[in-house]
Amino acid sequence: MITDSRQFPTNAELQCDLCIVGAGAAGITVALQYLHSKLRVIMVESGSARLEAEQQALNRGEVVNRVHPPAHLYRQRRLGGSTAIWGGRCVPLQDQDFRKRPYVPLSGWPFDRSALQPFYERAQSLLEVGEFNYLASTVLSGELVEGLRDSDVLTETVERFSPPTNFWRRYRTELARSESVIVIKRATCLRLSGDRVVREVECAGSGDVRFKVRARFVVLAVGGLEIVRVLGHSRYGNHSRMLGRTYMCHIEAELGQLRLSPADRGVQFGFERTNEGIYCRRRFTLRAEKQDALGILNAAIRLSHANVVDPSHRHAVLSAVYLTKRVLIPQYARKFAVVEHEAMRCFRNDVQLWLGHVRNVMSDTPRLASFALHWILRRHLTYRRIPSVAVPNAAGVYSLDFNGEQAPNPESRVLLAHETDRHGVPKLRIDWRASELDWLTLSSMLRELRRALETSGCGTIEYDAERLDHDAHASVVPMGGHHIGTARMSETPSLGVVNANGRVHHVENLYVAGSATFPTSGQANPMLTIVAMALRLAEHLAIRLDHRFV
Ligand SMILES: Cc1cc2nc3c(=O)[nH]c(=O)nc-3n(C[C@H](O)[C@H](O)[C@H](O)COP(=O)(O)OP(=O)(O)OC[C@H]3O[C@@H](n4cnc5c(N)ncnc54)[C@H](O)[C@@H]3O)c2cc1C
Repeated sequence: MITDSRQFPTNAELQCDLCIVGAGAAGITVALQYLHSKLRVIMVESGSARLEAEQQALNRGEVVNRVHPPAHLYRQRRLGGSTAIWGGRCVPLQDQDFRKRPYVPLSGWPFDRSALQPFYERAQSLLEVGEFNYLASTVLSGELVEGLRDSDVLTETVERFSPPTNFWRRYRTELARSESVIVIKRATCLRLSGDRVVREVECAGSGDVRFKVRARFVVLAVGGLEIVRVLGHSRYGNHSRMLGRTYMCHIEAELGQLRLSPADRGVQFGFERTNEGIYCRRRFTLRAEKQDALGILNAAIRLSHANVVDPSHRHAVLSAVYLTKRVLIPQYARKFAVVEHEAMRCFRNDVQLWLGHVRNVMSDTPRLASFALHWILRRHLTYRRIPSVAVPNAAGVYSLDFNGEQAPNPESRVLLAHETDRHGVPKLRIDWRASELDWLTLSSMLRELRRALETSGCGTIEYDAERLDHDAHASVVPMGGHHIGTARMSETPSLGVVNANGRVHHVENLYVAGSATFPTSGQANPMLTIVAMALRLAEHLAIRLDHRFV
């Protein structure tokens, strides 16, 4: 059933077995497991089906380091949460991501990857990404770079793309039909009250409406930033002073370029489809033992079309992509800023840069028209969308898209600010920081990739060797929308916020779902693991609720 807080009288008191706070991917995944149960489950969600300015304003906060996006961008206060805008890239964590690595402080999960395997397989289906098979050789044909053979630089794994599934649109009918699950929209959890047992979830509805939910168990699925607000304001979860610390986003960077030799060497860099029609993308990774030997983090590099910012690529489509994104999508202004700075070295001023792009667009309008048609068909008129633009380069030159793990750094923090929102709840203050291990991973990966390409005679990676570590430092930015580690899992209460089941240490009935609980980020984008972990949590809670899944 779906209802609206507007329908409640103020000071209403609701009772249930399980209260889930937040209807994003994590919260909806937990709720879906109880659709046909005899339990009463209440899911309170701050937003409604459409993004409403009043609710989205609750996401505003302070940002200390300007390379981090503003707090209200890259997350959505609405039913479905960030699945309304996510990119769909799915990758599982790897074995090494769960291990304690001596050179990565605070690394090691309380369980190994095999514990997640069955849940990963079920998460695939919820995310509509086909079979659980990420091996390039079994799902695709051809090679990332023809002839590249190396024992350390690997090309064996792929990323799979969800349509991308919007959890609200995809699952709202099932939720609406359920007699066990009640979704209350426009209902914001302000704080939890109780002691070792949470007794009440205090909520604000539309206008002045206030109501309470009393539940046997509470799951907070409010996203990796908001969790600090709800727990911090309720004075839960900070026994170890780790709440909000080790905030990780994944590292993103564009540095160096690949030059194939010869220029027409075979390369598979775009979006390919499996037999089931799932879009996939290939990537370079480094063997786990080599990461250990170099003392670096896990990372992946994808080949990308020539740098769109610099009009010297002379490509009408790439210039059109740049102009469209730069003008229409505010998030890209931040992302492009670092690369534009580099490109501007070759141009006297902004006008020259923009004129270069306009000239490219005008020079090849037939190609642009054919691309536009193809794009509309495969991106906008179909459920399973092509994830992005991938334009081959006749000169055999590709830019490199780096996505890396970020080391858990206690100084990288999310805190409560002095200023409060309209409900009197403190806003967030985000102090994201990168550390040396983050950018040394980038420079080491580039060196390894260059060595592997040169020894196989496939080409090279061009970068300024003398300035590489410096350039790597300057180019790392946090990946928008990935909010990890702020309520980390730990075996012992002194090192984290929640235990291996996601239960807040020292509290009997309070759980956290989502990437806030990940002790380390791994390289993989978080969604697949968020959903797998939410399925695992639902199974654990079923035992405590004495519920059997049918
Ligand atoms: C632009 C973008 C692209 C992305 N691309 C990818 C990708 O390709 N692959 C990938 O793996 N990940 C990607 N991500 C990240 C991924 O989307 C998120 O990690 C994931 O959606 C988080 O899910 P969640 O349920 O934990 O949190 P959210 O989606 O943030 O859901 C939390 C929900 O809780 C609600 N809420 C918050 N506070 C309260 C409160 N106090 N009371 C009641 N309700 C509350 C919110 O309104 C929201 O609906 C992307 C993110 C963005 C923004």
